[in-house]
Amino acid sequence: QAKSGGRDMVSFYAPEIDLLVQQRQTLEHHLRHALERGELHLHYQPRVDTQTLDVVGAEVLLRWQHPDLGAVQPGRFIPLAEETGLIRPIGMWVLREACMRLAAWEAEGRSAIDISVNLSAAQLTDPALLDGLRQCLRDSGCNPGRLELEITESHLMDNASAAEAQLIALKTLGVKLSIDDFGTGYSSLAYLKRFPIDKLKIDQSFVHDLLTDPTDLAIIRAIIALGHNLGLVVVAEGVEEGQEARQLRYLGCDELQGFHFARPMPLDAFLTWMSQHKPFASRTPQASAR
Ligand code: C2E
Ligand code: MG
Ligand code: MG
Ligand code: MG
Repeated sequence: QAKSGGRDMVSFYAPEIDLLVQQRQTLEHHLRHALERGELHLHYQPRVDTQTLDVVGAEVLLRWQHPDLGAVQPGRFIPLAEETGLIRPIGMWVLREACMRLAAWEAEGRSAIDISVNLSAAQLTDPALLDGLRQCLRDSGCNPGRLELEITESHLMDNASAAEAQLIALKTLGVKLSIDDFGTGYSSLAYLKRFPIDKLKIDQSFVHDLLTDPTDLAIIRAIIALGHNLGLVVVAEGVEEGQEARQLRYLGCDELQGFHFARPMPLDAFLTWMSQHKPFASRTPQASAR
């Protein structure tokens, strides 16, 4: 039997593995400098009220544009940032940007939109997160109630008791908390009761086949009922078709996000989209004239 020491382990030599390790190291090297070199950007994806289609918030999503590598997808660099701990400084930068953006919008009188930020497990267990976020809120002067932190269900469950303590502490800052990718992890319903959360975001895999798969439909119905019974706001992400949006409205889902409304966009494009977006109230002049 292999002992824990590397020497006793059977080693498989494969050049492909060398190549993968090398690519990873190169990517890691570049990622270490991405922040200071200004290669990281935020895209904004709107979230709308299901009933009125008013924009109620935007999720900020990290983008990395490297001069040689081009656009590196979050699915590639976020896991690397998590493994290397780089997600802590990068995540703190995202939080700071989000708070500054909220404060700028408040100053412009555009104060009805929330911003949500994704947090990874490494941030959730970071003892410096709380002070860092408090500092961002203070420096920006934004309304903490407009900042929403999204934590994926599986991250929460990795270390549920530590997560619970951190969530309770974060909640004292006045921010909102939501569980992202809900339905794909293994959350115990008891934790849903204990965690001080405000929202559930139904994972897009259920929304994807909502119109054709009765099981997905049943799961979405159940999540909406569960969320509402616990007094939580329920959001569906990955809404790609108008018919999905209508079905989710019929099912009583509170907020919608997805390509059907808009893709994540740079700030300028997001603001242009916002100025052209037509909620229901502005679409039916007869209704607003009544
Ligand atoms: P997420 O938080 O669940 O974000 C939703 C993802 O779904 C985004 O992918 C978004 O572009 C995509 N999406 C939105 N609407 C649709 C749709 O209608 N159809 C489809 N097929 N996809 C849609 P993205 O931007 O590639 O981000 C992937 C994941 O990377 C995020 O999943 C989040 O977990 C992570 N991530 C992104 N930015 C950050 C960040 O600043 N910090 C951390 N810790 N994680 C981040
Ligand atoms: Mg998210
Ligand atoms: Mg998600
Ligand atoms: Mg679909």
